[in-house]
Amino acid sequence: MKLDTKALRYLNPSDWRTLTAVETGSRNHEVVPTPLIANLSKSSVGDVQRSISLLAKANLIAKVKNAKYDGYRLTYGGLDYLALHSLQKGNIVYSVGNQIGVGKESDIFVVSDEKGEQRVLKIHRLGRVSFKKGVRNKRDYARTRTQKERGAGSWMYMSRLAAVKEYAYLQALHDVGLSVPTPLGQNRHHLVMSLVDGFPLRQIDKVPDAAGLYAELMEMLLRLCSLGLIHGDFNEFNILIREEEGGDGVKLIPVLIDFPQMVSVDHANAEFYFNRDVECVKRFFARRFGFSSNEEGPFFKDARQLVGKDGVKRLDVEVEASGFSRKMAKELEAYMKEHGVDGDAKASEAVDEETADSDSQSHEEEDDDDSERDDGVSEPVTS
Ligand code: ADP
Ligand code: MG
Repeated sequence: MKLDTKALRYLNPSDWRTLTAVETGSRNHEVVPTPLIANLSKSSVGDVQRSISLLAKANLIAKVKNAKYDGYRLTYGGLDYLALHSLQKGNIVYSVGNQIGVGKESDIFVVSDEKGEQRVLKIHRLGRVSFKKGVRNKRDYARTRTQKERGAGSWMYMSRLAAVKEYAYLQALHDVGLSVPTPLGQNRHHLVMSLVDGFPLRQIDKVPDAAGLYAELMEMLLRLCSLGLIHGDFNEFNILIREEEGGDGVKLIPVLIDFPQMVSVDHANAEFYFNRDVECVKRFFARRFGFSSNEEGPFFKDARQLVGKDGVKRLDVEVEASGFSRKMAKELEAYMKEHGVDGDAKASEAVDEETADSDSQSHEEEDDDDSERDDGVSEPVTS
């Protein structure tokens, strides 16, 4: 999805209050009634009316016609503006540049801070919902509904959960010195991190030392395990390779990204995810570099022994305590499962060498909330 920032500069305080009012109202209303917007925004009726028409023109809110009453809903564009506005106020983002990635559930942009230093903005877009078909039935839209019932509200909430989760793990992993981007800020469904000067392993045809890189990646999986974690989407799309000049030539440094699928080693399907992560690397190295290790494994049962060894702190426990609670984790996981969100693992498995160019980093935009998603790799069912 595009990120059109043109209107960012000319919104005045009353416009921002009105946009925020629509966001607040959306927590309980699929269609926010105009009087409620006026009430929540604490602006004069004239100002609110003016703001509403400006926001609607800029596609930040959208009028909903079929409803029994006049109302508006927040669009993804509107939510993007609220998040960007906060990141700008926090001096984390100054301007937005090119889009460098379009995933099924995220958009990636290069942004800069006020000194012009480039960073990466990742926007989570879970359940890209289309409202084009209009309102689907004639429920009473003013009725307060639970989160689960709330179709329109849940994309916002779930996308924010994905960003909160990703950011929490990014911070925790960065703090213990794992090779990940530097976390710089998060707001709503947006997160900002340092730009890695490199390419996904997927795009690399040759490496000077496949065995060395393979060993390093397996080491990384084991290190994650010792910290109580399994990445869950560890593959050639989510490992960036950066070159570093050293005394003895250029060294390739793997940098791990993309954490919304991270699970604890105590997760019911931990072994499945661990094995899948290992397999993705093995398959890719065999296919791309013709390299297969003579050693079997690593195996989950051995990796599991490393958890907390030598007093290493468990990040699964730490992240749970720091704000991304177990309840949030469960909600997000259930939603991702329901919507067939399965990261890049399936692409890693399915794509063969001939189709390498049209790989999964540019999925067609899904904008049909009723469309069936292909669930991909089957995994054990958990309660
Ligand atoms: P998705 O969940 O859509 O797979 P990712 O976090 O894996 O999102 O990012 C998608 C792509 O964007 C990556 O494969 C990579 O090419 C690019 N990318 C993401 N984060 C960074 C970063 N910090 N630095 C450089 N490129 C990045
Ligand atoms: Mg990815």
